[in-house]
Amino acid sequence: CGIIGVLGTGEAAPRIMAGLKRLEYRGYDSAGVATVNNGRLDRRRAPGKLGNLDAVLTDNPLPGSAGIGHTRWATHGVPNETNAHPHATERCAVVHNGIIENFAELRRELEEKGVVFESETDAEVCPQLITYYLETENMTPAEAFKKAISRMRGAFAFAAIFSGEDDLMICGRKGSPLAIGRGDGEMFLGSDAYALAPFTNRVTYLEEGDWAVITRDTIDVWDESGAKVTRPEKISAASQ
Ligand code: GLU
Repeated sequence: CGIIGVLGTGEAAPRIMAGLKRLEYRGYDSAGVATVNNGRLDRRRAPGKLGNLDAVLTDNPLPGSAGIGHTRWATHGVPNETNAHPHATERCAVVHNGIIENFAELRRELEEKGVVFESETDAEVCPQLITYYLETENMTPAEAFKKAISRMRGAFAFAAIFSGEDDLMICGRKGSPLAIGRGDGEMFLGSDAYALAPFTNRVTYLEEGDWAVITRDTIDVWDESGAKVTRPEKISAASQ
């Protein structure tokens, strides 16, 4: 299971697929990609091998230079298209690796407020929580993401993109790895440096509990206590 993110120049979906192929070795049962294109979110998902998702994308391409991708190893909900990530609302799309231990109570809390879930996964509470905070509490994407991850217990790596935001990707990790790659006016996100190697060797590893707001030119990182932190950029030796 793995995560790829691209804030690039040029089409993101083919690069996300190239990154996902480099994460295949981790094992997976389904996969998906979401992009934001001129402010509009869209996604494609497919159960089974990445070749199935490739076929879906060939039939129905996903334009946009910003996007996220996921290979899923199902823990909650069978491996089918509906349970495949990215999970999304009108406002955001999210990929998740790991397990959200308190998803059932968070889901119940949101359902009592009228939120309708589409999948059986633990992961879907993340975009639904973010959307609730964006809409009901009028938060910014960064505030909503931060509040959402503070509510979730368990092990996770998340990446999110937002409607109306073509130059924004927010990610966070606890228990699952996540690395940010810096290109030339482009940024990348991956579960490991090997997945990022085709794009860049300038890699910043997020530490346990960190979350980050990324644009094509900037990386801002906060730790779990809410303190702004600087994480060193390293030159990765991962082979291309
Ligand atoms: N627990 C999530 C799910 O079952 C994510 C699994 C993963 O790490 O791929 O959808």
